[in-house]
Amino acid sequence: KSPVTEAAIRSAVNEAYEKYKSAPGGANASYIPFLADVDPKLYGIAVCTADGKVYEVGDTKYEFGIESISKVFVLALAMEDRGPEAIQDSIGVNATGMPFNSVLAVELEPARAVNPLVNAGAMATNSFVKAPNSAAKWTRIDDIFAKFAGRRLPVIDKLYASETATNQHNRAIAWLLYSYGRFYDNVDESVDLYTKACSYGTNTRDLAVMAGTLANNGINPVTKERVIKADHCPKILATMITEGLYDSTGDWVYHTGVPGKSGVGGGIIAVIPGKLAIAVFAPPLDKAGNSVKGQLAAKYIVDKLGLNLLDGR
Ligand code: GLN
Repeated sequence: KSPVTEAAIRSAVNEAYEKYKSAPGGANASYIPFLADVDPKLYGIAVCTADGKVYEVGDTKYEFGIESISKVFVLALAMEDRGPEAIQDSIGVNATGMPFNSVLAVELEPARAVNPLVNAGAMATNSFVKAPNSAAKWTRIDDIFAKFAGRRLPVIDKLYASETATNQHNRAIAWLLYSYGRFYDNVDESVDLYTKACSYGTNTRDLAVMAGTLANNGINPVTKERVIKADHCPKILATMITEGLYDSTGDWVYHTGVPGKSGVGGGIIAVIPGKLAIAVFAPPLDKAGNSVKGQLAAKYIVDKLGLNLLDGR
């Protein structure tokens, strides 16, 4: 494969932006009241290369809820603490094939294994992070997110309050996992920290740099700081391949051939190891909870730059 030039990246990003700017379809997440009120026309794309160049177009400075994309980075922290094998054994790494908040995903799997990128597994992963108490755990989460993004990220207080008031279903799934001995810290506190991490405000550029750190073998490509062990990056990306877009992960991988992760705030990231990361923000979601324009724009860039990892040409 030929190297991807700066000019090629710039035009792919601009073309993807123009092509899908008015793409119809999808609706904002409505089950979290705060998200329902975000302007559905917002749209931004950012690419961060493994050598730290960032390309942006559109509303890339707008801060929105990171939501489920946070699961990737809390997983990264838990993996630093416990190692990849413990994640596989104690949380699970197979595809659930089910919606992100599915109770059945927990019930149907005999070993009660889930995946760190669905709600049940993400809350269990949060409980798996080592810390003497919740305050210390939050400091550790906050520190690693800051290293991934290259800046301290704010929590959107209104979003955090909105989710906390409506997260009864998540609490139920967490207690269900607990009842099967698959939860590793105080349930209510872990759910709260999970909810708080989902409420981080990130802009599209932040997400590109965070994902770019995974593309750059665990070193933030902009600050040059090592954030996680290089060995862990392929393991994290593997969970994105199996579960990054929930029950439509197969459709995503079928079309793009790259690991991706979405959030109901309208963000989506795609990582091409050793090369670059793509982040897109556009609030309207499809039925599985993935940004409609985000998937289209990311797929366009992957195709245009020949980044499909499953294509040997
Ligand atoms: N905080 C959201 C939830 O727990 C995250 C879901 C998502 O982005 N898919 O439901």
